[in-house]
Amino acid sequence: MSALGSDSAAAAGGILTISVEAVVANWRALAARVAPARSAAVVKADSYGLGAARLVRPLYEAGCRDFFVVALSEADALRPLLPLDATIYVLNGLLPDTAHAYGEGILPVLNSLAQCRAWADARRGSRPSVIQVDTGMSRLGLDVTEQQMLAADPGLLAATGACLIMSHLACADEPDKPASGEQLAAFRAARQRLPGLSGSLAASSGIFLGADYHFDVCRPGASLYGIETSPLAEGIKPVVDLRVRVAQLREIEAGSSVGYGYTFRTSRTTRLATLATGYADGWWRRLSNGAGAAYFGDTRLPSVGRVSMDSFSVDVTALPKEALAEGDLLELIGPHQSADDVARAAGTIGYEVLTSIGKRYHRVYR
Ligand SMILES: *Cc1c(COP(=O)(O)O)cnc(C)c1O
Repeated sequence: MSALGSDSAAAAGGILTISVEAVVANWRALAARVAPARSAAVVKADSYGLGAARLVRPLYEAGCRDFFVVALSEADALRPLLPLDATIYVLNGLLPDTAHAYGEGILPVLNSLAQCRAWADARRGSRPSVIQVDTGMSRLGLDVTEQQMLAADPGLLAATGACLIMSHLACADEPDKPASGEQLAAFRAARQRLPGLSGSLAASSGIFLGADYHFDVCRPGASLYGIETSPLAEGIKPVVDLRVRVAQLREIEAGSSVGYGYTFRTSRTTRLATLATGYADGWWRRLSNGAGAAYFGDTRLPSVGRVSMDSFSVDVTALPKEALAEGDLLELIGPHQSADDVARAAGTIGYEVLTSIGKRYHRVYR
């Protein structure tokens, strides 16, 4: 530890604990569910903010051999951490003039006919690739016309070195909608047009739609990180625990205002704890004025006033006076409120809560 202890847990405004064990257990549970299909691990956006560099090797050791990122820079950062029998796929596709930049064991996802041609022209046909087809969400991938054109040009198809055909479901988290069934049919039709390739359709929520959706490779992300992705999801363990420090304790009189904009005014003598986290740390401003809370044991401590960039206040009047001291840690994500609970309170989804978690917390991987 340095003399100033600036890297220590004691000096940090909060402690973010990430259970590597739970991530691995979630991967194993999903891999068992989809077998004999393989389960990949989606580790884009730094594993949804949780630290891909710390997670890919334990996932590899558990048996994972397929890792999906979005950008080539993410693939380059993770490549040295994984043996070459693991493959890293770049979902964003082959951006212009980047074919030469793909190192060994990094595969582009080709999202258009132009990308197929560019990959083939770069004489990387000996290198494999993935073809993505659009089956409804109009985001990335070859449309039906492009699929037909590719199917009509077997030389081009061979030159892409495609080994996998994939698509992505738009509504798998809403099992009652007909959309997933329609996308499944469109994916099967695409596989008939471009036969002989392994298939991949399901992300986390798609896995829970059943074996019809599993094909050869599934691509879970959020469920590895403990997010509830579907009403059908089961067997997923929480991964994240976030505790934040009491920066200051104060007692204020009735009629006092709290925080920016004076949006909260006390009606009684009130004891407040100012917590050392704010929207710059991913604690959403929408969690102002009672929408969000911290926990001390089982006691919910509602926010009062607005969440600032670096702090927010909670009402601790319900606690005995001696219960809290400056520097103590209160629960923001943990057994009393999950990342999904925080998301609901903030009007967003658990994915956004995780990927927003800031860099100032002391991180513990266990
Ligand atoms: C992000 C992403 C995934 C993972 O989705 P989750 O819902 O987090 O499991 C899978 N496939 C594609 C194409 C993605 O963009």
